[in-house]
Amino acid sequence: MGTMFRKILIANRGEIACRVIATARRLGIATVAVYSEADADARHMRLADEAWPIGPAPARQSYLSIETIIATARRAGVEAIHPGYGFLSENAAFAEACAAAGLVFIGPPAAAIRAMGSKAEAKALMQRSGVPLVPGYHGEAQDLPILAEAAAGIGYPVLIKASAGGGGKGMRIVEQPEDLEAAVEGAKREALAAFGDDRVLIEKYLTRPRHIEIQVFADTQGNAVSLFERDCSIQRRHQKVLEEAPAPGMAPARRRAMGEAAVAAAQAVRYVGAGTVEFIAEGDAFYFMEMNTRLQVEHPVTEMVTGQDLVEWQLRVAAGEKLPLTQDQLLIRGHAIEARVYAEDPARDFLPSTGRLVHLRQPREQSGHVRVDTGVREGDVITQHYDPMIAKLIVWGEDRPTAVRRLVAALSEYEVVGVATNLGLLRAIAGHAAFAAADLDTGFIARHRVALLPVTQLPDPAEETAIWAAAALTVVRNQDAAIQAAARVTGDPWSPWAAVDAWRLNGDGYQDLRFRRGDVGAVTLRTYPLPDGSFRLELPGGAVQASLTEDAAGLLLVVNGVSRRLNVARRGAELTVILAGGNHTLVHENPLAPPRTETAGADRVIAPIPARVTRVLVAPGDAVQKNAPLMVLEAMKMELTLRAPMDGTVAQVRHAVDDMVDEGAELVTFAPNV
Ligand code: ADP
Repeated sequence: MGTMFRKILIANRGEIACRVIATARRLGIATVAVYSEADADARHMRLADEAWPIGPAPARQSYLSIETIIATARRAGVEAIHPGYGFLSENAAFAEACAAAGLVFIGPPAAAIRAMGSKAEAKALMQRSGVPLVPGYHGEAQDLPILAEAAAGIGYPVLIKASAGGGGKGMRIVEQPEDLEAAVEGAKREALAAFGDDRVLIEKYLTRPRHIEIQVFADTQGNAVSLFERDCSIQRRHQKVLEEAPAPGMAPARRRAMGEAAVAAAQAVRYVGAGTVEFIAEGDAFYFMEMNTRLQVEHPVTEMVTGQDLVEWQLRVAAGEKLPLTQDQLLIRGHAIEARVYAEDPARDFLPSTGRLVHLRQPREQSGHVRVDTGVREGDVITQHYDPMIAKLIVWGEDRPTAVRRLVAALSEYEVVGVATNLGLLRAIAGHAAFAAADLDTGFIARHRVALLPVTQLPDPAEETAIWAAAALTVVRNQDAAIQAAARVTGDPWSPWAAVDAWRLNGDGYQDLRFRRGDVGAVTLRTYPLPDGSFRLELPGGAVQASLTEDAAGLLLVVNGVSRRLNVARRGAELTVILAGGNHTLVHENPLAPPRTETAGADRVIAPIPARVTRVLVAPGDAVQKNAPLMVLEAMKMELTLRAPMDGTVAQVRHAVDDMVDEGAELVTFAPNV
């Protein structure tokens, strides 16, 4: 029986690093985070007891550098390294390097990682252990005639996979023999580029399968258990989007059979620690696909239904303890669903969307019911260097319908402005009748794409009205605030500005506000203040009476007596109305505002993009020459030096180091030299 570690290093970033730190802290284990230059202020490095820099942003030079991470672990004096998932988590050479340095790798033995590293070799091994395989070919010989004969024997359609594969790379569906040659060539090319290994295998392509995987755990004393299944059938292009536990409709006998097959697979490679055996299931049959030798992204759904902390299990097993529970002691309680919230742009085929999270509200966590695993905070930047995940939202319910309802509710609480997200897709899936009916298979998203594509989710008329009303009333409220602030600055409480509402400025009792909104073009809204503090608004859908007030819970919009919660995020002239988790962006065209270009006015310098001030090089009263550096900004890890537009004297410096500035914010003003 081992002793628990005193101090560990987490060789990862983002939500999983935060997740591991949370459990270590609860167990009284000191934590060391590592961070690249792109993560210099990341949430995970702030949460840890210590955080050590490990190099530049590109993962190859930081999070994937075995040498740097081992050296850091030694200098920080840790006893063990948790690799998280991704990065070095399934790298056998890293596991060996840890051992060579006298450090415990919190994961399986290097030999088990190697054995499961190749899909083809893993399948050969599983066949020998009696684990069912998808009908297919995973032999060494790779000549086309042999592959063609194998494919014919399996029967079309077939699926070609890279033996060394992962992340869906090198995967090709082939419907008929004539297409095989081109598909094999394509798959080999892709596999060689991605993994440096062009070997492929062939499987029967199942047309309506479910992805069901089993969480297994084994200790160093020969005990192994199954923590039951997760259903990960909701996929986009063979990548998981939503995961749940237990799998809907899973009969106890089948659960037992799959659990036993998975435990047999783990034992065949003398597995230790957390692992996942992935199966593809169709009808009553299930077949081994591959084993992932790490903690999975979707492990929280298993934690929610078993009441266990899998990171704690990992730490105990790595410290030499035996598994906390036996198979008989493990039970499933209720139902859990996880949604992966990504910064991806549905309008651009779900390409990663990078940028600053200028506004971020995540659903409120509720112990046991709603959990948010995240690695970011408002103001953080999603960079192109790493996985664009924002968070994992996990909900639990006594039964599946309750969990689905909680998922819908929690997704509607999400507010993200600054990057595009897949929230529209997640909400559409969660709200779809076929999802409620648990009619799941890996073709779900493709089959229902018309209903799920965000493009089709137009707001209904009541929402339309709410969007226009919220935008108009936000502008009016901000004018009020600006006028009151101006009155405070002049110090004259009797100033007519202090008492007068914005609308009275034009004397007519109303004010016209112009907005641009996507395809709609420019729209003018007329706003009339009413004696009770509300407004009559002339909107595209007709006139309404509305008010917008703020309380502890956020903004409350009342339209013709009907109230609803929403939020509005502002970036310069851009307003994003966030309604039930959906974003609706409008631009306010203010005729009084100065033009928003960098050289505007020539007597001031403005921020060309949302950024953070990193250096201030001048002070009021300084005489500067044209092109002299004034201020350095940083945005998306790029430095930007702002220079004097002319010879002159600095009048005001409006921001200090570390301020976050919006696009268009005034930074430095000048008095010209005369
Ligand atoms: P990767 O490791 O590249 O992610 P996997 O082997 O894990 O690839 O498969 C990913 C997904 O591809 C599965 O979850 C499933 O949706 C689909 N898939 C894999 N094998 C088959 C098959 N034989 N028939 C149909 N779909 C499959």
